Amino acid sequence: MAEKKHGFATRAIHDGQEPEKVTGAVNVPIFLTSTYQQEEIGKNRGHEYARLTNPTRDALEESLCSLEGGTSAHVFGSGMAAITAMCTMMKAGDHVVCSDNVYGGTQRVFDKVLANYGLTFTYVDTSMAENVAAAIRPETKLVHIETPTNPMMAITDIRAVAEICHAKGVELSVDNTFLSPYLQQPIALGADIVMHSTTKFLNGHSDGLGGVLICTTPEQAERFRFVQKCTGGILSPFESYLLLRGVKTLAVRMKQHDANGRAVAEFLAGHKAVEKVFYPGLTDHPQHELAKRQQSGFGSMISIELGSLERANEFAKRLRLGLLAESLGGVETLVCHPATMTHAAVGPEGRAKLGITDGLMRISVGIEDVEDIIADLDQALAG
Ligand SMILES: *Cc1c(COP(=O)(O)O)cnc(C)c1O
Repeated sequence: MAEKKHGFATRAIHDGQEPEKVTGAVNVPIFLTSTYQQEEIGKNRGHEYARLTNPTRDALEESLCSLEGGTSAHVFGSGMAAITAMCTMMKAGDHVVCSDNVYGGTQRVFDKVLANYGLTFTYVDTSMAENVAAAIRPETKLVHIETPTNPMMAITDIRAVAEICHAKGVELSVDNTFLSPYLQQPIALGADIVMHSTTKFLNGHSDGLGGVLICTTPEQAERFRFVQKCTGGILSPFESYLLLRGVKTLAVRMKQHDANGRAVAEFLAGHKAVEKVFYPGLTDHPQHELAKRQQSGFGSMISIELGSLERANEFAKRLRLGLLAESLGGVETLVCHPATMTHAAVGPEGRAKLGITDGLMRISVGIEDVEDIIADLDQALAG
């Protein structure tokens, strides 16, 4: 890996993104090719077929690996494709312990797809690390956590959970989508695998799907490279390019997301139409101290309780700048209603257990002028 000693912003711009060798092009070209000419039988120039390797994708994998401090990275066509690929390291009979408040799609692929192949899943509140210890069984192979969780913003102590996992010979994967490697470095805290929906902050411009697994061992690397080749859920050259482009500005974007997130959370906490604000940067967040210790910022994901579906919908309809949409992590402020959007598949009972009410709205604070974001939220809440 090139230039590990450089700072984050420098690595985001340069690692994996060296000028192209033939022409000196400063940007990594989009290699739109499915196959590669071979020099003679059994002799190629490092590439055989684009499901296995593609120079644009290879550059992206080197970049993301550097940013998370792993040993290799493997990109897939979406975050869900990455999670599914990760689970192929297990076999029927194996058991997974998972945060009870994970991304709705993660729980759906676990319970509705992978459970049919003999994997079993236990969901616990991983914000209390002792729950993880209690849930691990002899057949447990993986603990999968998200921190902060979506949409309740609960924090899990990555170091504490990693220690529990390693004492029992279990691997820990962390979905780092909400903070990006700029604000949280799970591998440095003991995680074995970091996963992202690159669709969100890493891309940052709401213009492409993607997912990545970042590894820490040669066995994982070999496994995930093999899975890319065998199952084929890889990221396209064009979307790899969009992501390379997005990552170059990750540091400046995340700084602004973090600053805007803090300001918007303070504003919402003081607003009389808002019953509760869920944001790890507020001192009344139950794990504020842990968030301060484990993260290098609080990010821009905020949930607010408005009291009823009616009031949530009134707020959503009145927004002018903020966009009512699924997804998060783009430069534009996006607002979503978890109960009917991201967590519809969890069902009413599942949502009640997690505290996801019909009056809960989630805000992904963008990097517009923060005064404009606050003014828009203020007028929308006035309804
Ligand atoms: C969006 C998201 C995913 C799924 O990623 P896709 O790219 O939509 O497949 C997984 N985890 C988290 C935390 C997400 O926000």
